[in-house]
Amino acid sequence: MQISYVLIDKLNALLALYPASVTRLCTTPYRNEAIVKGAQSSKHLTGEAVDLVFDQTSILLPAARYAVSLGFGGVEVDYNNLHLHLDIRSEPFWHEVRVAGKKYTLKNYLTKLEEESINSPRV
Ligand SMILES: [Zn+2]
Repeated sequence: MQISYVLIDKLNALLALYPASVTRLCTTPYRNEAIVKGAQSSKHLTGEAVDLVFDQTSILLPAARYAVSLGFGGVEVDYNNLHLHLDIRSEPFWHEVRVAGKKYTLKNYLTKLEEESINSPRV
């Protein structure tokens, strides 16, 4: 098992702007299946994924947007567990936000937030 250098380079670029704790990098098939209940095709099995937590929840979304610009093919903002999953999959890309039991594409979620801020009454 090896950790992808492409992942490390992108991760370093992200951490320079958004300091974080790395909670998971690579994993074994046993831990992935029996303990974490991760996907069978998890990029953590091939050293191509990382999970991060930030000091403040408000950093999740800006960090996710930056991760997309860095070329991470897999980006998942998980507001249930307050972590950011990043991986270097190739297309089709997967950019998702999980919040309050719902799933959105990152793009749709950002649009939703924008619409909500436009529609909310200003004081
Ligand atoms: Zn992950």
